Amino acid sequence: MATAQAATYVERAAGHEGTSTLQQDISNPAKDAQKYADPSGAKMKALVWMGKNKVEVVPLFKRSCIQRENGKDRLGSDVTIVECPKPRIVEDRDVIVKVTGTTVCGSDLHLLHGAIQQMEKGDILGHEFCGVVESIGPKAMGKSFKVGDRVVASFQIACGECVYCKDKLSSQCERTSDNTIQTTMYGGRVAGIFGYSHFTGGFAGGQAEYVRVPYGDVNLLKLPDNVPDEKGLYLSDVLCTAWHAVLDTGVHKGHVVAIWGAGPVGQMTADFAFHCGASRVIVIDKNWRLDFLKSKYPNIETIDYTKLGKGESVTTRLHTMVHKGPDVCIECAAGEYAKGWAHYFEMLLGMETDTSEIINEMITSCKGFGSCGVTGVYVGYTNHFNIGALMERGIRLIGNGQAPVHKYWHKLLKKVEDGEIDPLKMVTHRVLLEELDEVYHKFDKREDGMQKVFVQTQYSFAPAPGTPAVTQFKL
Ligand SMILES: [Zn+2]
Ligand SMILES: [Zn+2]
Repeated sequence: MATAQAATYVERAAGHEGTSTLQQDISNPAKDAQKYADPSGAKMKALVWMGKNKVEVVPLFKRSCIQRENGKDRLGSDVTIVECPKPRIVEDRDVIVKVTGTTVCGSDLHLLHGAIQQMEKGDILGHEFCGVVESIGPKAMGKSFKVGDRVVASFQIACGECVYCKDKLSSQCERTSDNTIQTTMYGGRVAGIFGYSHFTGGFAGGQAEYVRVPYGDVNLLKLPDNVPDEKGLYLSDVLCTAWHAVLDTGVHKGHVVAIWGAGPVGQMTADFAFHCGASRVIVIDKNWRLDFLKSKYPNIETIDYTKLGKGESVTTRLHTMVHKGPDVCIECAAGEYAKGWAHYFEMLLGMETDTSEIINEMITSCKGFGSCGVTGVYVGYTNHFNIGALMERGIRLIGNGQAPVHKYWHKLLKKVEDGEIDPLKMVTHRVLLEELDEVYHKFDKREDGMQKVFVQTQYSFAPAPGTPAVTQFKL
């Protein structure tokens, strides 16, 4: 949206607050190769943002005009020759990671759509990645890993020392993003995030062959040999986000839990709700993903909101399924997807940034004094919020925030090691980094039964047993 881009210029004019302990806006080493690129001159492939609804993998060579399978020209003349330098250590606690696995997240689609503020052309995307430690800055030495070790990165960049980090509330770290607009809009800042706009610090992301990890001694977790990349990767975000949604919203034994959104986070939230003792889990969405979830968890109940009867709503359906409504409702969809025309146009016209439709549905569906958690990404303001229902029925509406990865990842790694949780239940495809731009659009359109991908690079290990084989789209 236009307002999103305008924010970039406002921020630039207003300047950063100057309170971050990290350099900001190194969203591609090419921005200043003298300072940020590896002195060897080595290059790498990376996926960069090229403008609203355009992302592409930047190769070392010009790829000819790409044709889609249906014969339609997708990128057309927008394919550009850009070489991406390999990053170097810029600050003393940096670690350079050679990426062996990355993925696309539902929240990357908000960047693709231009729904997130302060993107710049050429920004390297991706906030979930694992890899091998390539080099370690002088002040990140002697920690729990050494050069050559396999590690997974936290999607958020934490300092490890501020008041929030000391409590393991790492997503609220105050020292890694320096964004004036965020402080004005939110009354405070959240931590820097890899590959997620200049709104969160402008850090180059992990949909690349190499990544610079600031405060690498804090933001990397060593992966044991018995956890392959295809499982360990998802500790970056989705496992911690789903776990946090369940704990933070307050799912307890015997609860009936309703979840809006059947994507990867919704799926793992359903998985973890059962894990925490929920008696019933009901997932609301509209496409094949509901069947996919049922195939993995036969005891899940589903509502396809496009197939409701005349005069029926998600709330009335839930009230017929559950006496008085679910105890806990969790939003795993995001605020940019309007269901009706009113919000569609209001967002289009810049009158709001997010729709309140799902939040209202949760509030009216939930049992009195029940809890509703918001885990999907919401950016700013919304209209027509049903504050009356919230107040009168005593609904506890909880912003779950970006999940504090550092609080949970040791515990979740242990559960993965012990086989208590299995991230592979959501992984449907293994794809090539070179084809990631295509994958973005397929994922966006929910095509090919794509639930969660594992993206391999030229440095990836051989696929672990039981994981999907490579699917290629550009033949
Ligand atoms: Zn993510
Ligand atoms: Zn901190």
